[in-house]
Amino acid sequence: MSKNEFEPVYIQTFKTGLFAEKVEKAFQMLKKCSLCPRNCGVNRLGGERGVCKAGYLLEVSSYSPHFGEERPLVGFHGSGTIFMTHCNIRCLFCQNYSISHLGEGQEVSFERLGKMMIELQKIGCHNINFVTPTHYVPQILKALVLAIDKGLSVPLVYNTGGYDSVETLKLLDGVFDIYMPDFKYNSSEVAQTYSQAPDYPPVARLAFKEMHRQVGDLIIDEKGIALRGLLVRHLVLPQESAGTKEVMHFLASEISKNTYVNIMDQYHPCGSIDPKSPLSRRITTNEFNEAIEAAKKEGIMRLDKQEKLRLIWKF
Ligand code: SF4
Repeated sequence: MSKNEFEPVYIQTFKTGLFAEKVEKAFQMLKKCSLCPRNCGVNRLGGERGVCKAGYLLEVSSYSPHFGEERPLVGFHGSGTIFMTHCNIRCLFCQNYSISHLGEGQEVSFERLGKMMIELQKIGCHNINFVTPTHYVPQILKALVLAIDKGLSVPLVYNTGGYDSVETLKLLDGVFDIYMPDFKYNSSEVAQTYSQAPDYPPVARLAFKEMHRQVGDLIIDEKGIALRGLLVRHLVLPQESAGTKEVMHFLASEISKNTYVNIMDQYHPCGSIDPKSPLSRRITTNEFNEAIEAAKKEGIMRLDKQEKLRLIWKF
C-alpha cells in the first residue's frame, strides 16, 4: 500500500461521530479504575491513584522526534514520541525509572496534548507514538478529538508494555493503526518477581490477539514507513528470564509467522534491580544469537535492525 492510498483509521471513526462514545466510556472506567488488568478500583476522577500512580490529568515527561525507535517508525524524520509519566507495569529494571516509577513529568491539559501531536506532525514526524499509554487511554482519546479537528493525519502508535486489558483495547478499535507491545515475560514467577504481575503472560497473550485482530500484520509503504499493523518488541533478558523461545512460539503459532519483531539486546541492569538477581548483568552475544535463532526456528523472519547489526559485526 502506498502512503497516498492510506488513511489513518481514526479519520473515519471521527467522521462517523464514534469518538464521543469512546471518550465517555473510557472516562467512566476511571471512576473505579479498571483501565488495566490491575483493576485497582480507585476513583481517579476524584483524585485517587492506584498502582500506576497516575491521577486524573495526564502527565508527560517529554515529547520530540525520536530516532531510536524501529526503522519503519523512524523513517526519515523520526517518530513523534510522547513519553507518558508513570506506568502500570513498573518493571524493576525499567530504563526510564525516573519517569515510570518516580513520576518525572508535568501535568498537561487535553488541549496541550492535542497541540503536541500537531507540532510533531508539522515538523515531519511519520507518526504520533504514545509511549506507555495504558493508564491514560481516556485522556489520550479526548485530546485526539481536538487534534483530529485541527488536522492530525499521521498514524498513531500504541507503544505499550503489553499489560493491557481487552476491554480497554476494544475502545481503541478504530483509533490506533499501529500497536507496538512488548512481550516481556513468559513466566508468571518472573513476572511477579520483576513487575508484581503474575498474570502477565496470559493477559499479554489475550491483548496481543486483540491487537492483531484489530490491525493485522505490519504494513510498510514503498519508502519503508509503517502504516498499520502489529510490531512486537521483545527484550532478551539474562538466563532466558524472558522466555524468548516460548514467546516466539506463541507469536508464530497464535498470532502470525509474518509478525514484525524487534528482538532487543540492550538490557542492562538499572532501576532497582538487586545486585544478586539473575538480571544483574547484561546479556551475552550468545544469548542474543540464541534469541534470533529461536525466532527463525519458528519461521519468524521479519526481524528489525538488530539482526543486521549483528551481521555487520561479523565482517
Ligand atoms: S490504570 Fe492505574 S489505577 Fe487504573 S487499574 Fe491500572 S494501575 Fe490501577
